Amino acid sequence: MTDRDHCLALDADDPLRAFRDEFVLPEGIVYLVGNSLGALPRHAAERVRRTVEDEWGRQLVGGWNSAGWFDQPITAGDRLAPLIGAGPGQVVAGNTTSIAIFQAVAAALRLRPERRVIVSDVRAFPTDHYMVQGLAGLLGGYEVRDFAAGRFDDVAAVLLSEVDYRTGARHDVPSITARVQEAGALMIWDVCHSVGAMEVDVSAADFAVGCTYKYLNAGPGAPAFLYVHPRHHATAQNVLSGWCGHAAPFAFEPDFRPAEGIRRFAVSTPHVLSFAALEAALDVWERVPMDQVRAKSMALTSLFIDLVGDALELVSPADPAARGSQVSFRHPDGYPVMRALIDRGVHGDFRAPDVLRFGFAPLYIGYADVYDAAATLLEVLDKELWRDERYAHRLTVT
Ligand SMILES: *Cc1c(COP(=O)(O)O)cnc(C)c1O
Repeated sequence: MTDRDHCLALDADDPLRAFRDEFVLPEGIVYLVGNSLGALPRHAAERVRRTVEDEWGRQLVGGWNSAGWFDQPITAGDRLAPLIGAGPGQVVAGNTTSIAIFQAVAAALRLRPERRVIVSDVRAFPTDHYMVQGLAGLLGGYEVRDFAAGRFDDVAAVLLSEVDYRTGARHDVPSITARVQEAGALMIWDVCHSVGAMEVDVSAADFAVGCTYKYLNAGPGAPAFLYVHPRHHATAQNVLSGWCGHAAPFAFEPDFRPAEGIRRFAVSTPHVLSFAALEAALDVWERVPMDQVRAKSMALTSLFIDLVGDALELVSPADPAARGSQVSFRHPDGYPVMRALIDRGVHGDFRAPDVLRFGFAPLYIGYADVYDAAATLLEVLDKELWRDERYAHRLTVT
């Protein structure tokens, strides 16, 4: 059995150890929710202050030019690109993941007008499937089929998450992309739960979407991103044809005329304050060796699974190669168990109906944290501390 001293020794040898000091983490807690909202990069507050006081405060409307605000969707997109295996000019940042999904699916359907089936995963994070349902309803005449049906020969577009938000199971991106495209359909990947946790490569896909507030640590409400394969840049249409995707936004022409390249997928005025925090987060990622992030992520999640043992039913794949950077367990009283755990400083989250979810962000979580989290979890279960009445009442955000 691994003991705490062994974990401290692993922390001392960890090549990513120094990154922990670049994040603000409250004393006395183990934060295993970086897969929902990443921790605050230490210099983000100063970066946001600069945008507020120096740029907005002093440059006022001139900031659109002098501070580069108008180009943020493109400049931040170029900085995000290496994290998903893409190149410059292939990623646009802004809006939210749900909106990027709408754009990607709508564009894919227009590229395959003869096909009338959209595939998505009913077990995936609901917004993905909801957006597909909304779009299908708007257009009329579309069938929405579950990915599990496994049939793509009559399909226009397939939307799938690389890592499942609930189970942490990881799909094989290259083989699914190839299978979907060989069937004549377009592949759209959602990398919300993989980007920043492992080496992601969606460059062969037709489209990809993701958020930046989970493992990427860009803060609550941070801009999302959309990748469009260059083979579609000249032909794919952005149905959310806002003025920022226009070829000449300041010509104020009566008709929409798409910009060249990825810029046609920009929609509207960038969320400048949120972009400032994203820029700060990306300053960190520029120095991160992603192969080491993945190696440590697999080690942390495997350690946690070993330490918890058979005290809980494992929902995530046992093989580290087949999962993301999270571990999920099932417990019929999962909600009060998680509340009891949080009360003791170990922060995970709960996903209905019965899943306890623990995310391991390798930049700021260490081996001793994993040890402490598992020890506390085992104590909550052994002593049935979760039976306390205080933990029965559901909070709004779980
Ligand atoms: C987190 C997440 C989202 C978030 O969507 P928003 O539009 O930012 O609220 C969407 N899809 C998946 C798979 C996610 O994990």
